[in-house]
Amino acid sequence: MNYYSLNKQAPNTTFKDAVIKGLAPDKGLYFPESITPLNDEFFNDIDKLSYSEIAFEAIKQFVSPDIPEAVLKTIIEETLSFDFPVVQLNDNISTLELFHGPTMAFKDVGARFMARCLGYFNKDNTNQVTVLVATSGDTGGAVANGFLGVKGVNVVILYPSGKVSDIQEKQLTTLGQNIKALEVHGTFDDCQAMVKTAFLDEELTSHMQLTSANSINVARWLPQLFYFMFAYKQLHKKHKDIVFSVPSGNFGNICAGIMAQQLGLPVNHFIASNNKNNVVTEYLKTQLYQPKPSVQTISNAMDVGDPSNFIRIQEIYKNKFETLKENVSSYSFSDDETKDALKEIYSNYNYVADPHGAVGYLGCKSYLKDHPKAHCVFLETAHPTKFLDVVEEVIQEKQLLPEQIQSVMGKDKVSVKISTYDDLKTFLLNK
Ligand SMILES: *Cc1c(COP(=O)(O)O)cnc(C)c1O
Repeated sequence: MNYYSLNKQAPNTTFKDAVIKGLAPDKGLYFPESITPLNDEFFNDIDKLSYSEIAFEAIKQFVSPDIPEAVLKTIIEETLSFDFPVVQLNDNISTLELFHGPTMAFKDVGARFMARCLGYFNKDNTNQVTVLVATSGDTGGAVANGFLGVKGVNVVILYPSGKVSDIQEKQLTTLGQNIKALEVHGTFDDCQAMVKTAFLDEELTSHMQLTSANSINVARWLPQLFYFMFAYKQLHKKHKDIVFSVPSGNFGNICAGIMAQQLGLPVNHFIASNNKNNVVTEYLKTQLYQPKPSVQTISNAMDVGDPSNFIRIQEIYKNKFETLKENVSSYSFSDDETKDALKEIYSNYNYVADPHGAVGYLGCKSYLKDHPKAHCVFLETAHPTKFLDVVEEVIQEKQLLPEQIQSVMGKDKVSVKISTYDDLKTFLLNK
């Protein structure tokens, strides 16, 4: 598969090159040249396939021929070494739990898949890369864990000092080896700005191959389409009219879901569930896309003022507003509504959600008001104990820490403090 840049000012390129570069030279996002739907048999007989078999069939066209089939199978087996259960709450609502990976956030799958692709591309030591990533919390841990020990890949994570949770900080500062954590005196936006400056800095990029492990990278974005197929496998016998509610920040996850639909997955509708960072909710109302500075919420992985993958969704729907609106709805919820939802899910269904999942649940409820026959699956994108303070305060019950989280809490944090872009540059050049 070849990829083109959505800015249309750069040459088309291979999967391998798109993964190594992250962003096209014209700063556009890469997008596959074609999408060939899977045959009906695949979806009819999906019960008979394992998760790995489903994933292999679904992603093969996007990575071929750069990764041989046998290698791809191994990469997928290793990536998907945990479960993706659907839990039904009532006749109309289920949740798809995406938090059973090593860092308990859904980003584990994309990070693990991308890391293994880069590892393969560097198999004869010709493609050393430095992965530079800014995190507001969850991305850092998933990337640190997914890339740990991958030969030829150095990972540098920038995070805002004092603004990520203790658990998140431990997950990204305690691994060592090829993972370095830079603790930035500033906000997430400052971290993001430094990363962007680095990508544009020719003095740096002439010394090293920098790439991104955010969902702009096709190898992190595309494997997320597996989730929607895994949910379908578990639900299609019981429910006809399946819709997905995706708690969205940069819109990578929901865009991957829409790719699954383009591959033929029988899904009726997507719901982009947002916190008060509601650029897309507003866009669907007004047809005006107006990026804004992000505001802080309790579902902080969705505090994004200008979602980077939205442009890919527009591309899928050929930039036709009406088509987009037919296929995607969006709702926005406040922190108070989110807390009430956490309480409601706990008291009605004895289920502990995290704040992001709770926003997804609210999206389901809004949609179901007008579509009472639908079965809405909201994605639980993180384990509730990753947001311990909010969750315990709201449901008034102590939570047990899962083993994945306990195991990092006892380790010592190692980070390098930086304040300016020059600090970052010096660090990268002297590494
Ligand atoms: C990253 C993240 C999201 C948002 O996903 P996007 O692909 O950026 O829309 C939602 N919930 C959690 C817990 C996350 O870490």
